[in-house]
Amino acid sequence: MSSAELIRLFVVCLLPPATVRAAETSPAGLPPPPEFAASKRLFDSWKAPVPPRRLVGNIHYVGAIGISSFLITTPAGHILLDTGFDETVPLIQRGVEQLGFKVGDIKFILGSHAHADHTGGHAAMQRLTGAQIVSSAADAQLLARGGADDYSPYPKELMSYPPAKADRIVREGEAISLGGVTLTAHLTPGHTRGATTWTMDVSDAATTRRVVFFSSISIVPSTSLVLRPAYPGIVDDYRATLAKLKALPCDIWFSPLGGQFAMMEKLARLERGEQPSPFVDPAGWQKLLAAAEQDFLRQLELEARR
Ligand code: ZN
Ligand code: ZN
Repeated sequence: MSSAELIRLFVVCLLPPATVRAAETSPAGLPPPPEFAASKRLFDSWKAPVPPRRLVGNIHYVGAIGISSFLITTPAGHILLDTGFDETVPLIQRGVEQLGFKVGDIKFILGSHAHADHTGGHAAMQRLTGAQIVSSAADAQLLARGGADDYSPYPKELMSYPPAKADRIVREGEAISLGGVTLTAHLTPGHTRGATTWTMDVSDAATTRRVVFFSSISIVPSTSLVLRPAYPGIVDDYRATLAKLKALPCDIWFSPLGGQFAMMEKLARLERGEQPSPFVDPAGWQKLLAAAEQDFLRQLELEARR
């Protein structure tokens, strides 16, 4: 598949599921709950393989085309952030091996948030590696139930995945250290109650860059924030999360969706020798947060008019 085709696929992946039936609205003015068939098609489109790549320093992309998995390598073993869907675990395994690493050297499995497309592969990946699963307390609960009772209005058959047990719970500001690498957990609830943003430093061309692996902050389509909140406190959580993310030092940012951080476009620029690395993009980070805040405020306003 050419780079242009890959970029086009990423763009398709970015369409929020609600756009599938954007013309219809629920009585509250919110988009209707996503349909099973449309959601399944979207999820399936994210599962295609894409060549694994080194992104910057010791950070590698080993995910599927639409869903990120990051391998952070160290001399003492590796850290895997997000395992994709249960079905894409073999693809991640192949990606790790193609880059010359061993899945058996993965010591920690981390997650951005406990939805089927990001932690659905945790149980299978743990069986393959024997690695410790690390999670926030709230996402550990969702993980233990295999996503079954998430507040999201997505069809349960799509949101459920093989349950997994967290071996280690991280609280705000706690870190995971391995082989000279430290990943710090920042609790950023909203998209799920336990959504977690991870930060680390990376060495890039003799410069230390501050990296943010942000968790999703999109409002799950058809979720009411105020009128009928299935997640009481969601408004306060989103406000606090947005403020926290805006204050994080960030040179490089990655997201649970490869398309969201324009991975293919930035890789193409990297291959052309662009310096500094195109992944150094603090302006893009602030733009993403501003857009997320706008979406949040727009929905609050919409619900206030009801
Ligand atoms: Zn999600
Ligand atoms: Zn997702």
